[in-house]
Amino acid sequence: MAHEEQRAANTREDRDEVETPSAKVARIYHALVVTYGIPEWRPNGDALGELIATVLSQHTSDVNSGRAYAGLRASFPTWEAVRDAPTAAVAQAIRSGGLAQIKAARIQQILRELTGRLANQPLDLNFLGEEPLDDALTYLQSLPGVGPKTAACVLLFSLGRPAFPVDTHVWRVTKRLGLIGARVSADAAHTALARLIPPDWRYTMHVDLIRHGRTICLAQRPKCAICPLRAECNYYWATVAER
Ligand code: SF4
Repeated sequence: MAHEEQRAANTREDRDEVETPSAKVARIYHALVVTYGIPEWRPNGDALGELIATVLSQHTSDVNSGRAYAGLRASFPTWEAVRDAPTAAVAQAIRSGGLAQIKAARIQQILRELTGRLANQPLDLNFLGEEPLDDALTYLQSLPGVGPKTAACVLLFSLGRPAFPVDTHVWRVTKRLGLIGARVSADAAHTALARLIPPDWRYTMHVDLIRHGRTICLAQRPKCAICPLRAECNYYWATVAER
């Protein structure tokens, strides 16, 4: 099957995965859209670059990790050159992102592992756009240091696959809403939430739940009095509304 046909078939399968969202998920989705809108989903088409950028984004701000990624790309012409450089030289290129030694070593580990798997083909991960979504997630998570959130970010932001990354905001807000149980780990929440949220809604819900967590459903002192989701919120009905 040609690549484009395979991609189209995968997209249809991705979309068939959740047949009908629950009424609660649908109400939350629509309230988020009314409040925060539908963000434009423009995958960047570079899965390996996205993976490296995601490693660089750990434990630092977007601005600093963006600088570190730009520094890396400016210092080395190819991912093969990053792989083969002294680790200290890679760390120097990404120093603005913090934890430079650890991240440089992690990036080189990933690139070396990929080199072995790809049998010395050019380093690239865009073939994951043609794999079933679960297989693509499993592949990424088998790379050194790659967990469910990084794997989902790579597929969602670079290849337009409807994976559902769960960051600290998404995890906190969905627990309070009661979409997942209070004891569900952030890693386990990826599977649990992907089962609940239709593929076409995942990008919007990911982005809008983060916006909600940053502006209203704050970790300390959530602003329930002005929250557009409070009618759907277990935390609100169990605590705030009872007072
Ligand atoms: S009602 Fe409160 S706890 Fe619930 S989602 Fe809104 S801000 Fe968060």
